[in-house]
Amino acid sequence: MIYLDYNATTPVHPAVLEALLPFYRENFGNPSSVHWAGRMVKGAIEEAREKVAALVGCDPVEVVFTSCGSEADNMALKGVAAALRGKGNHIVTTGVEHPAVLNACHYLENNGFEITRLPVDRHGMIDLAELEAAIGERTILVSAMFANNETGVLFPVREIGAIAAGRGVYFHCDAVQAVAKVPVDCREMHINLLALSGHKFGAPKGVGALIVRKGVKLQPLIHGGSQERNRRAGTENVAGIVALGKACELALVEMAEEAARLSALRNRLETGIRALLPDVRLNGHPDRRLPNTANLSFPLLEADSLLLNLDLLGIAVSSGSACSSGTLKASAVLSAMGVEPALARGSVRFSLGRGSTAGDVEYVLEVLPGIVERLRKSSEK
Ligand code: PLP
Repeated sequence: MIYLDYNATTPVHPAVLEALLPFYRENFGNPSSVHWAGRMVKGAIEEAREKVAALVGCDPVEVVFTSCGSEADNMALKGVAAALRGKGNHIVTTGVEHPAVLNACHYLENNGFEITRLPVDRHGMIDLAELEAAIGERTILVSAMFANNETGVLFPVREIGAIAAGRGVYFHCDAVQAVAKVPVDCREMHINLLALSGHKFGAPKGVGALIVRKGVKLQPLIHGGSQERNRRAGTENVAGIVALGKACELALVEMAEEAARLSALRNRLETGIRALLPDVRLNGHPDRRLPNTANLSFPLLEADSLLLNLDLLGIAVSSGSACSSGTLKASAVLSAMGVEPALARGSVRFSLGRGSTAGDVEYVLEVLPGIVERLRKSSEK
């Protein structure tokens, strides 16, 4: 079996699994309890908070644990909207955000907020002058992703942060696909709110975090107890949080080397496919991309047929984002980049990760041309 869909999710890292298991066994306490059982796990949560903070360049007190990236994004957008409603009702975002941001913005739009969605060029990039021009007196927040989940395109986050800071507007960054793949630093990049998700980098599903920098005004999404300094009620997912901390600790050590290894593999895959199938097109920026992601359009093909045929050989890839696969609609991200609908429908995302090997890539290169040829012939009939 060959798994090339790491942007959808990743297996739990063996060292992360080791670290979390005791918290399903002997370390079972509720961190809010004052007795020994509670104290044992409370310390582990605070240690995890330090590890997350070290990876993304913020203070431990600024880390708020959530259940996933989607919750973190919703908390940022709806939380700021509720807290700053008196100041303004305008939010600037981009046309290529993940549904967690996109649909939270739709919700706010239906509740009296005005949303500006910045367009992207054919490389998936926004224009910073357009961002500058879109910020007005009533703007309270800029929300832009760090790395696109479908194409891997990296937005100029540092510059976006500087523009937002210069105009006195909060900057929320959905960094779910970037954390542990490329360096992320909230302080240096002027990021006020940053969303991340454990299952994208070796922690299990069900844990994420929102970084809320000091001084940021934010209303909670979930009301209840005083956990997470009153910012997110609910008994903590202790094992998940410990796992997230461990995954961050590992990423800090392994990221640079792993990024170099994966980008070499990804480049071999991309150049190999395009040498075998010269009409295949790369979607996204040629350089400003995550090291692990390749989004390719196969002319005269439906991505879903390609996916199915690769799956029959044990190769897992994805068309567009996982949330929208299974539908025949062209990807909204590729459409926003001006990719023609027919080409967008023939686009496949290969995303590599920790378990990916040169052998995986060579196997894909061996079987792919035959599948493409067969599918094209059968669609001609
Ligand atoms: N933001 C981006 C860019 C993503 O890729 C994803 C997941 O695919 C999310 C947010 C949502 O994260 P989660 O699956 O943890 O809710």
